[in-house]
Amino acid sequence: MSNTAIPLSNEISFADLNLAQPLMHAITDAGYTRPTPVQAQAIPLVLAGGDLLAGAQTGTGKTAGFTLPILHLLTAKPVINQRAGRPRCLILVPTRELAAQVEESVQTYGKYLPLKSMVMFGGVNINPQIKALRGQMDILVATPGRLLDHVGQKTLDLSGVEILVLDEADRMLDMGFIRDIKKILALLPKQRQNLLFSATFSDEIKTLADGLLHNPGYVEVARRNSTVELIEQSVHLVPQKLKSYLLAHLIKHHDWKQVLVFTRTKHGANRLAEKLNMDGISAAAIHGNKSQPARTKALAQFKDGTMPVLVATDIAARGLDIDMLPHVVNFELPNIPEDYVHRIGRTGRAGSSGAAISLVDSEELSYLKSIERLIKREIPKVVVDSFVPPANLPAEAPRPPRQPHGQRRHSHTTASAPRPAGTTNRNQPSREGQGQKPRSQQPRNSQQRNGPQPVKPRPIQTTADQQHLSEAARHQSMPQPALFSPKSGRRGK
Ligand code: AMP
Repeated sequence: MSNTAIPLSNEISFADLNLAQPLMHAITDAGYTRPTPVQAQAIPLVLAGGDLLAGAQTGTGKTAGFTLPILHLLTAKPVINQRAGRPRCLILVPTRELAAQVEESVQTYGKYLPLKSMVMFGGVNINPQIKALRGQMDILVATPGRLLDHVGQKTLDLSGVEILVLDEADRMLDMGFIRDIKKILALLPKQRQNLLFSATFSDEIKTLADGLLHNPGYVEVARRNSTVELIEQSVHLVPQKLKSYLLAHLIKHHDWKQVLVFTRTKHGANRLAEKLNMDGISAAAIHGNKSQPARTKALAQFKDGTMPVLVATDIAARGLDIDMLPHVVNFELPNIPEDYVHRIGRTGRAGSSGAAISLVDSEELSYLKSIERLIKREIPKVVVDSFVPPANLPAEAPRPPRQPHGQRRHSHTTASAPRPAGTTNRNQPSREGQGQKPRSQQPRNSQQRNGPQPVKPRPIQTTADQQHLSEAARHQSMPQPALFSPKSGRRGK
């Protein structure tokens, strides 16, 4: 779908980019009038055959920024007698949803070309993929884990890759894919063009780029960690246990038609979706423990407007392209301030306006401060006058401890004590995008394969637990959702 509100380049037109006629037709069909800034800058560099380092977030038109010139280059240099299962371009992405979306773009822009593409990710039966690999395939869009499974089964030959794209490279590293990426790089021919796209540039990304790219062209379109100006941000100060009630109230009161809600954990996402459904609001959770058909169905219903609420974890939501999403809710604030910027970037996409609402408990105030420091502005605290909390709240189990402030989910973080069976190490990188556990967590013996052993409920004994409970008790007796006197802001949203 075209989106006329996307910021477009003033200086450069698509005609200036010298793309092949079939691509120009597809661009016209998509309704695009001018290239976006990342397209205007990246397309000529990729067409020239050089490596590229691009700083661009989703919503900038980056997918067409690499897909269009790749389609052009592959068409301009056809291969005679191309072998089956031997792609010429490999696009690596962190999540299944992004993989599906990127391959859809390849099909959209390449619809008048004879090139063939395929998408490959875990969590689904491998056999249809193996069958598809027996035919012609020019462009492969894949998540790293399933790609390596195919390599292991010798159903995929990477020796013909001429162009490699690492899309959302920062998120791939966050998800612990670096080892898989290195394994894949070792399987590719030395002579190739490399394109690296990343929303942020950590030291790890710089190291990866240094090892991968040769004299790269450099493009950066969105200022790093900048908050999209068009997004109206607000905070509601509210105890954790009232959040689901407040959210249900906001959705009903404002008749929100499409709202993406972020939770901290997969379990929390499930629980919230259930609560909303019980409250008569159609909602589904989307995360790595859900089957791929369930995820695809939930996303489709959310996109076509039949289901107004999608509850997601950060990783599952990454890369979702939903045009003009009007509302994003942070049910919990992320402990990594940059993730806040990624989350709220789901709304106000492609130049349209949107609202990002954060429900903030007293325990999250330090996260809020870090976020405000990062975006260099205070987010208005708004009291919802129309909300009346329920009189009798059901008792809730104490929440698990939060991730230490600002800590990434890296595998090298030292674990203090052995974990009991059936629990997960919160410091392990999650592969929820692929519905696959890190190899270090995969079952090794029959006991582990047979599933987790039941865990006895932990008696409440720590000071932290007691503090938490007394906090919860205080919340329960509070008549108002606002815990703390709001400093600034409008009323009655
Ligand atoms: P992306 O950042 O690649 O996820 O793209 C974000 C959205 O922008 C997608 O829905 C694209 O269809 C749309 N888009 C990409 N390029 C253009 C363009 N030149 N003009 C208008 N919309 C575009």
